[in-house]
Amino acid sequence: MPELPEVETVRTVLSPYIIGQTITHAKVNLPKVVANLPPETFIKKITGQTITQFTRRGKFLTLHLQSGAFVVVHLRMTGTLTVENPHTVYEKHTNLVLTFQNGQELRYIDSRGFGHWWYFALGQTDTSGQQLLGPEPGAVTLDYLKNKISHRTTALKTLLLDQHIIAGIGNIYADEICFRAKIRPTRAGNSLTLPELKRLHTQIPTVINEFIQFHHVPFRIYAESKGTSYQNDANLAVYGRAKQPCLQCGQPLVGTRIGQRSSVYCAHCQK
Ligand SMILES: [Zn+2]
Repeated sequence: MPELPEVETVRTVLSPYIIGQTITHAKVNLPKVVANLPPETFIKKITGQTITQFTRRGKFLTLHLQSGAFVVVHLRMTGTLTVENPHTVYEKHTNLVLTFQNGQELRYIDSRGFGHWWYFALGQTDTSGQQLLGPEPGAVTLDYLKNKISHRTTALKTLLLDQHIIAGIGNIYADEICFRAKIRPTRAGNSLTLPELKRLHTQIPTVINEFIQFHHVPFRIYAESKGTSYQNDANLAVYGRAKQPCLQCGQPLVGTRIGQRSSVYCAHCQK
């Protein structure tokens, strides 16, 4: 599932190809993709509008239109966005296509079809879910973290995944953040000491920003991989590495499940 660093890559790589473009046609191949309108209404609303900004909040992307309306996109498990020339063969599961006045197409591909697009007119309440998000990782203060975590009996991993507490962290980076903070993801929130909370507070934005840097790719590489080149896990220390040696101490990493989610940690390095 694309998490904050991957969604940020989509935004930075595609921005130059999207911002300033006018939508001349739109096609919805999978009606349920448009979450809050019938597809034909969605198409009518956005056709002729120019995209003025492309922003991200947590794992949500927003296309801002010149009328003040905006389109929110959530990629969920398997959604990807690419910009292609119209003659390029369509990938299987191309669920939505926006054609720009320069002839290029913004294509939304999603094999599982869980991703959503929403249209909101100027002044209309955003009901996509992004209005309920907690702060971005870089905006979390130590006091805020203490308030949200230190009275909870829930596992730290589950708290990090809660988008209402912090926006954008998913299964991969929750494990990486816990490893870097040297805290087991299974620990109850209220068991964390102040030094541990401080390490967590430091590592949350550090890990997220590092992976934003790792994932930054030129448009050509992004396009060749159909928007999936950012899913490069060569820099992951623990996620997906259960039973493999810890990069720090060499002991085999422990694989477990926390709140239905697979989790990996080092029983030696993380207390
Ligand atoms: Zn270790």
